[in-house]
Order: sequence, then structure tokens, then C-alpha cells
Amino acid sequence: MSAPAAIEVTDLVKRYPRVTALDRVSLRVEQGEFFGLLGPNGAGKTTLISIVAGLARATSGRAAVMGHDVVAEYREARRRIGVVPQELVFDPFFTVRETLRFQSGYFGLRHNDDWIDEVMAHLDLTAKADANMRALSGGMKRRVLVAQALVHRPPVIVLDEPTAGVDVELRQGLWAFIRRLNREGHTVVLTTHYLEEAQQLCTRIGMLRGGWLIALDSTQALLARLSDVQVSLRLRGPLPAALRGRATEQGDGRWRLRVHAAAEVEGVLAACREAGSGIEDLEVGHADLEDVFVQLMAGDRERAAA
Ligand code: ATP
Repeated sequence: MSAPAAIEVTDLVKRYPRVTALDRVSLRVEQGEFFGLLGPNGAGKTTLISIVAGLARATSGRAAVMGHDVVAEYREARRRIGVVPQELVFDPFFTVRETLRFQSGYFGLRHNDDWIDEVMAHLDLTAKADANMRALSGGMKRRVLVAQALVHRPPVIVLDEPTAGVDVELRQGLWAFIRRLNREGHTVVLTTHYLEEAQQLCTRIGMLRGGWLIALDSTQALLARLSDVQVSLRLRGPLPAALRGRATEQGDGRWRLRVHAAAEVEGVLAACREAGSGIEDLEVGHADLEDVFVQLMAGDRERAAA
């Protein structure tokens, strides 16, 4: 028998009275993957994570963690997943160590201090071990959230926008640690608004919009969908008629457009020359995940309108 998926959801539907947060979503995250779940606000990312973590019930469909159904085998599934939630919720009167011991107790782990010390050390929390939670800065509290998700050494780690409002230094330290856990065999699922982060970290990506899974592919394949070249120009005059409809205005006299091959850049420059619109600044680069994202979202809006 093949190894169970780290996470498997099948035809998952979640309906709230006014909105369908997830609409027949199916996906598999294999063990050892670094998977990105992307989508704009309200796409359904947190809902999907909550169902997988057993914190919310699906209206229909199934979800399993390491082969354990999140409803029928709640405890087995819950033990195998650690979730770093978006919101900071703590008992303010506990110290960092007490918070982590308490969480260990929730999983029935009595002698967990060695691991707690290790996790704290990796997250630069050791100096704060005996500080009360309420005395910590927002960034420090976020580190404790990460530590809390790891106390029971779950094979699957889910991070729901862990770097929102986090400074660069912590972000890099956090990613170095999460990458290490992934190298050691943990499956990592990440939701983020920072597409650059997803592009750097994730090997495969699922994109949600309005409860629909609109793309599911390797990061490489998603990027290859846009082998296009991005051209960004700042013009002294108006946009030449030949480029109208192809370029989007970025403000400050700057325009952005896509061409299919580097050789086509010459045509764009020629059009500007012929129209007498001098080029003050020019940048040429390859498409990134943000371009894929914008294109997919736009395509989806067009389909919805149709
Ligand atoms: P964000 O990036 O803003 O966190 P998200 O992709 O995580 O967004 P969800 O939080 O999963 O999106 O929300 C999906 C949809 O379900 C939204 O329209 C949201 O308003 C709705 N929703 C979420 N939780 C509830 C709830 N408890 N009751 C009613 N509607 C809800």
C-alpha cells in the first residue's frame, strides 16, 4: 500500500448561512512536501485549515491527516498536525514555558522539557522562557505560537500566515527553522499573502478563490505558464496607440506590459519611438508568481462574469 497523504481533502464543502466558503475542494499534500495555499482575503484558506485541524466541521466531503479521518478518528488526526494560527490567543498569566508545558499536557506528554527547550532555542525564546506572555512583544508572541504548534512533534505543520506583521529578521529566522523541519521530513503547509515567500519556499501551490481551487500545480509549472517577459516603462509622453489595451498604468507615468518573448521588447521600444514618447526608464524581467496569481484571478473573474 502506498504511504497515506499528509493531508487529503475530498469534495470538501463548507457553507455558512450567507457564503459558501469552500466549494467541492479536493487536494492531496504528500508527505515531505512544502506546500503553499494561496488566495486573496476570504478565499477559504483558514476555513480549509480549520477543517483539516478538526477545529471546524465541513458541511460535506472528507478530510484526513496522515490517513486518519478528521471526524471519525479525531484524536489520531489531531496528534499528527500542528497548526500555527493567524490570531494571537494566549493566557496572559502563563509564562512561555508554562504555555508550552500546558500544550504538551493537552497531548498527554508529561516529560517534554528537553524538546520544549530545543524548540525555544531554535525560535530564540530561551531568554524569555520565564517571562509572562502578556509581557512579550507581538513578534515574540508569534514565536510562541509556532513553538506551541510543535510541542507534540507533529509530522504535518500548518502555518496560517505566520509572518503577517513580523519583522524581516524574525521572518528569516522562522523560515530557516521551518525549512530545517521540512528537510528532516515534516510536511509543511503554508498560507501567505507574500507571494515572493511562497515562490521561494513552496515546491507546490494550490490557489483558492471564492471557495474554489482554481490552480494546483508545482511552483515551477505555475511559473512556466508565464514564460512571458515583463516590461515596465516610464514615458515622457502618452502611451502610444499601438500599445493601448496591452499595458496597465502603474502611476507616475509608468506602464507595465507583457510580451511573449524577449525579441518582442524591440517592437515595444519602436512603438514608443515612432509615437515620439521618450523612455525615461525601462525595466525588463521575467514573470513571477504574483503575475501568475494576478492572471489566474483575472481569468477567474472573467469566467464568473461570463
Ligand atoms: P484571509 O486571507 O482574509 O484570512 P481566508 O482565505 O482565510 O481569508 P476564510 O477566513 O476561510 O478566508 O473565509 C472564507 C469565507 O467564509 C469568507 O467569506 C468569510 O467571511 C466566511 N466565513 C469564515 N468564517 C465564518 C463564520 N464563522 N461564519 C460565517 N462566515 C464565515
